[in-house]
Amino acid sequence: MKIIGLTGGIGSGKSTVAQLFVEEGFPLIDADVIAREVVAAGQPALQELADVFGADILEPSGELNRQLLAQRAFVDRETTDKLNAITHPRIQQRTQELFDAYREKDVEAVIYDMPLLVDNGLDRAMDWVIVVDVAAEERIRRLVEYRGLDEEDAQRRVKAQIPDGLRLAAADSVIDNNAAIDNLKPQVDQLISDAPWLA
Ligand code: ADP
Repeated sequence: MKIIGLTGGIGSGKSTVAQLFVEEGFPLIDADVIAREVVAAGQPALQELADVFGADILEPSGELNRQLLAQRAFVDRETTDKLNAITHPRIQQRTQELFDAYREKDVEAVIYDMPLLVDNGLDRAMDWVIVVDVAAEERIRRLVEYRGLDEEDAQRRVKAQIPDGLRLAAADSVIDNNAAIDNLKPQVDQLISDAPWLA
């Protein structure tokens, strides 16, 4: 089974591209969904997080108060490491389980949608890396226009990620999403018909 890493800066259109692959029958493993799953109500990670960051990060309903956790966890390197030590192993385990389940089903290729694929060096573990490319100013514009972020927040989030040049350097294929959204499907269809990850 080939693992196709799909990445791009925040607001680049990764999720849109991922859905186009899904429509063509590719299974999708979504890193953001997994990251949310491991801290869903009732998950063991929550109690560990509460022990480290305070019981009040859990709502009476058992849900995680993400904002409060973020305030306390993203303070410095040490607190961030503590958060990661609790969540990362669980995220990795769950991701591996999903890969294994598809492998057992003899799936030819899966899409792994991972925003921080290159930032975290995971690109090297992929059989193929697709980067969705959009100029940073345009990503910021889309985050403001379609996701309702304020401009400063959008800029900060884009800046917090790996520089575009380094991300692009890790790409085996680049999907250009600078133009209108309907330019995506022809590029995805072409890639699927070429299937370079099978070569
Ligand atoms: P990501 O998953 O990379 O953060 P999304 O796929 O959610 O990005 O896209 C961000 C926003 O930009 C969405 O609202 C999406 O509909 C919109 N979008 C994606 N591609 C284009 C495009 N080519 N032109 C205009 N808007 C786009």
